[in-house]
Amino acid sequence: MPELPEVETIARQLRDLVVDRTISGFESRWVRLTEPEPADVFAARLRGRRITGVRRRGKFVVFDLDGGEALVVSLRMTGKLLFAVEGVDERYVRGEIRFTDGTALRFSDTRKFGRMAVVDAAALEGNGQSHRARAPLHSSLGQEPLARAFTVAWLRSLLRKRPRAAIKPLLLDQRAIAGIGNIYAIEALWRAKIHPLRKAGSLRPADTLRLHEAIRWALRKGIRLGGASRRDYVDARGQRGRMQREFQVYGRAGEPCPRCGRPVVRTVVGGRGTFHCPHCQRAPATHRARRVR
Ligand SMILES: [Zn+2]
Repeated sequence: MPELPEVETIARQLRDLVVDRTISGFESRWVRLTEPEPADVFAARLRGRRITGVRRRGKFVVFDLDGGEALVVSLRMTGKLLFAVEGVDERYVRGEIRFTDGTALRFSDTRKFGRMAVVDAAALEGNGQSHRARAPLHSSLGQEPLARAFTVAWLRSLLRKRPRAAIKPLLLDQRAIAGIGNIYAIEALWRAKIHPLRKAGSLRPADTLRLHEAIRWALRKGIRLGGASRRDYVDARGQRGRMQREFQVYGRAGEPCPRCGRPVVRTVVGGRGTFHCPHCQRAPATHRARRVR
């Protein structure tokens, strides 16, 4: 599932590929792609609009349109935005945005969870508190972890507000921090030497400092490597990322921890497969006691 680095990679590429192109038409091949809006109404809103910018908000790709609206695309599990890519499997193309110059941006999605919406661009700003859930795709998105406003003090205040939350599910909560998914949470917690089940309120100042650095380290590394391609992810040119070659612990159960050499362990936390080093990331005391008994 594409997370911040994958979506950022796609948005940066599309900025070069589609900005200043004018939309001549939109075709939906999957009835739920634009729901609750009927595809013909959706198409009418897009027609004639020029794309003025492409950016990322959380895990969403945002196309700014002239006139103050924005097209928001949620890739979910297997969604791909492909521009001028050869050999696309037609069976999985769910939508197509055509431009006046004859080019097109295609949305391919094997599992059909991806969605599109046209929203008021201003509704995408703010950090969850400032707007109500007017559009379903991006309601109440939290802080951007690569933004300047994501400071150690901000992270500390989040942990204080949610002291009883386990740290890993909290990192995955898009209403708190937007864009972090399973892979980058796992890599960041390993880097910060924090067990995924630690309570947010139990982190000491030094832990919080390391976690803040580790979150940015994991995300920036993912962007630098063009994202992680485990199964489906490809970028807007149809190319795979390289982050999957550089995982420290993700998907490496039984392999030596790159820091201490002891075997990496797979567990399930909040319903998600999780990897950590039991030596570098010590379990919280209550959890240790429970396991001993
Ligand atoms: Zn280790």
